[in-house]
Amino acid sequence: MNKHLLQKVLLPTSTAGSLPKPSWLAEPETLWSPWKLQGEELISGKQDALRLSLQQQQLAGIDIVSDGEQSRQHFVTTFIEHLSGVDFNQRKTVRIRNRYDASVPTVIGPVSRPKPVFVEDAKFLRGQTTQPIKWALPGPMTMIDTLYDDHYKSREKLAWEFAKILNQEAKELEAAGVDIIQFDEPAFNVFFDEVNDWGIKCLERAIEGLKCETVVHICYGYGIKANTDWKKTLGSEWRQYEAVFPKLQQSNIDIISLECHNSRVPMELLALLRGKKVMVGAIDVASNSIETAEEVAATLRKALQYVDADKLYPCTNCGMAPLSRQVASGKLNALVAGAEIVRNELAAG
Ligand SMILES: [Zn+2]
Repeated sequence: MNKHLLQKVLLPTSTAGSLPKPSWLAEPETLWSPWKLQGEELISGKQDALRLSLQQQQLAGIDIVSDGEQSRQHFVTTFIEHLSGVDFNQRKTVRIRNRYDASVPTVIGPVSRPKPVFVEDAKFLRGQTTQPIKWALPGPMTMIDTLYDDHYKSREKLAWEFAKILNQEAKELEAAGVDIIQFDEPAFNVFFDEVNDWGIKCLERAIEGLKCETVVHICYGYGIKANTDWKKTLGSEWRQYEAVFPKLQQSNIDIISLECHNSRVPMELLALLRGKKVMVGAIDVASNSIETAEEVAATLRKALQYVDADKLYPCTNCGMAPLSRQVASGKLNALVAGAEIVRNELAAG
C-alpha cells in the first residue's frame, strides 16, 4: 500500500531491529531480559513501549519505522513460544551458531501455529502511523538452530515446516498493513553449505505469495561477548557474505540487510548483490560511541560504489536493545543526518 511512498524518498532510513526498552517493561541495557509485567498489564505495557519507541524513531526522522521489537523478549524464542510441537519445559543444551552453548526447548511433535503471533501488535503499530512500517520475524534456519529437535531429526525438514508457518504469519502481517517483512537469519553467516543447499529455498517458501517487500537480515550479531570473541577469530577480512551472496542475488528476496560500518566486511562484496536492494549497516551497535554524520556518510558513499542509489537503504548493523536510550537516539540522529548529507550530494549530481 505504501510501496509508492517508499520509492519517493531516496536513501530511506530504517533500523535493523530492536531499540531500548523502558525500565518498567524490562531491565534496560540488557539483552533478552524478561518482562517485568504480566497479563493485561503486559499487553498495555508493550503497547505503551511501542508508542515510545515509535516516537523515538520519528523524532530522529527515520523513514521506515518499526515496533523497535517492544513486542518481543527474544528475536527467535518469542515467536517459537506461540507454536505447538515445542516443549519449553524439556530443555537441552546445544551450541548456537557454532559459537555459544544455550539451554533450549525441545521439538517433541509436528510444529504448527495455532493462532497469529505478532499480527495484533502489527495492527497496533499500523494504527499509530501512516509511515511505511517494517516487521521482523526469525528466519527458518535461525529458528532450528535455537532448538533441540527430537521429532523431525532433520534440520532441513524442520526448517521447511517453520517456513510454512512463517508464511502464514507473514501473509497476515501483510494484510494488517505491514509494508516490509524482514527475516532475521544470522545463521546464514555460519552454515554456508546448508544456506546454499536449502536455507535460501526455505526463505523463499516463507515469502511465497507476498506482495509486500521482503528483507533478509544477516549480521555478525549484537555486541555480546560470545560474538565479539567469535569476531576475533575471523581474521582481518570477514568474507562470510561471499559464500551466500551469489545465491541470494538470484533469490526472490527483495532486500538484503547487512553489517558494514566498523566491520571487517570488504565493501566490494556488495558487488555480488548487484540488482538487489541493500540495507547498508552504517551504525555500529557493538559500541557506545556515537557515529558522526560524516562517518555515516562515508560508509554510505563506499556502498554507493556497488549499490545503485535507488536501491540503497541506510540502516543500523543490527538491533540496539542493549544500548542506553540516549546512545540509541544519538545513533538514530547520526544515521538520518548522514543519509541527508549523501542525499544532498546525489541531488547536486
Ligand atoms: Zn542482526
